Amino acid sequence: MNPHGMAYVQGKAVSILGVARSGMAAAALLSRHGANVFVSEYGTISEEKKRELSNLGVAWEDGGHTAKAVDSDFVVVSPGVPSASPPMVSAMKSKTPIFSEIEVASWFCNAPIIAITGSNGKTTTTELMGHIFKKSGRTTWVCGNVGTPFSGICDQCEPADIIILEVSSFQLDHIDQFKPTVSVLLNITPDHLDRYEYVFERYAESKMRICENQRADCAVVFNVDDTYLRERMRKAALNGPEQFTISINGPVDKGGYFDRDTLFIATDRQSEKIMYVDELALRGRHNVYNSLAAAVAARVMEVRSDVVRESLRTFAGVPHRLETIREVDGVRYINDSKATNVNAVWFALESFSEPVVLIAGGRDKGNDYSSLKPLITSRVRALITIGEAAEKMHEELGPCVPDCVAAESLEDAVKLAQLLAKPGDVVLLSPACASFDMFDSYEHRGDLFKQAVSNL
Ligand code: ADP
Repeated sequence: MNPHGMAYVQGKAVSILGVARSGMAAAALLSRHGANVFVSEYGTISEEKKRELSNLGVAWEDGGHTAKAVDSDFVVVSPGVPSASPPMVSAMKSKTPIFSEIEVASWFCNAPIIAITGSNGKTTTTELMGHIFKKSGRTTWVCGNVGTPFSGICDQCEPADIIILEVSSFQLDHIDQFKPTVSVLLNITPDHLDRYEYVFERYAESKMRICENQRADCAVVFNVDDTYLRERMRKAALNGPEQFTISINGPVDKGGYFDRDTLFIATDRQSEKIMYVDELALRGRHNVYNSLAAAVAARVMEVRSDVVRESLRTFAGVPHRLETIREVDGVRYINDSKATNVNAVWFALESFSEPVVLIAGGRDKGNDYSSLKPLITSRVRALITIGEAAEKMHEELGPCVPDCVAAESLEDAVKLAQLLAKPGDVVLLSPACASFDMFDSYEHRGDLFKQAVSNL
């Protein structure tokens, strides 16, 4: 029996650490369901948010966390708050339960959940899946990291609806009973290691938690070409979720795969052709994985193959992910600002056969750039670096390219790229780094890139 849910929340003192989008939504949800909510924010809470909180009857503090921040029956932690932060340490010391926002939201949710995680491809796959389910005619709620917090909609959905939820490792760090009907593990490659004491295994284990409460009545879809996932799932418990795999290296028994030029879905050792790879709306090898994952999850939930095919063909894509901006003098400008880690840049480079002028850099998250060397050597005409990582990138990658220059600003980088590119080339912003040294967010970085490109 679920000890949580509405009855558990009623009358409880709850503190929420961090009040960005998901913290705000959790505050509203919990106060709506009878909890006494206190919000504690390390930074500043805007006047507008303060008014909203007051209207909800929620008390708050900002500009730091006092002892009040964890003086409660349980704590809801926002994804941006590190486990090592003082209020988290004191909550752990006093054995106050700590839950993430998706855990709490799941107590109120009657609809089946498809939860998607991975180091890269979460948003693309989540939006793609949302597109498929909407086309199938089912009431579909796309939420989580992608925009609308799960807490904002969890108590409004009906059992016949479907929740498509993008989940980060930070949200998974503090789940307890969160149990998706279908979990999707796209890939696990190093990212955010600064939040996991620079230990890959810790980061990977937090992603694996997506299926820890799933039993045989649930399903997991995972990328069997990913060495870590393959090995890890081999050791999975027998009473765990039914396993479906995806691969681009030929047939799998149960799941989805790419063979020669075609995507297939395999069930009970029978393969059904879905479509030719050229028909997919999204380009690049990484998007074959994303499309296969979305297709398999949809089929597990009994969406018809023709709906899957049509949806994969018509998906409009997501901004800031290999987004074509325009062509100037025969040079194509591509915005991949969301490539905030090394692996995403690898797939971006891999998806072009044309010579690339690469703009990269920003806030380094403990990156190891060495895996990029072969592709930089074979495909990159010039590397233009920006931000804090410039020096490290010059040292590690400079020797692989004919031209490696540092730019003062993104605008300068775009102008330099125009000078260095030749007709037929691609200018690619694919930073491998976080944006916070120079920009508010990756969207801000991508928007300024678009602006600079449209000024050319
Ligand atoms: P996430 O939400 O996990 O950050 P996105 O869909 O926003 O993933 O894509 C982030 C970056 O990773 C983009 O640069 C995109 O081109 C790249 N990418 C997308 N899917 C994959 C994948 N399956 N493997 C590797 N890189 C990917």
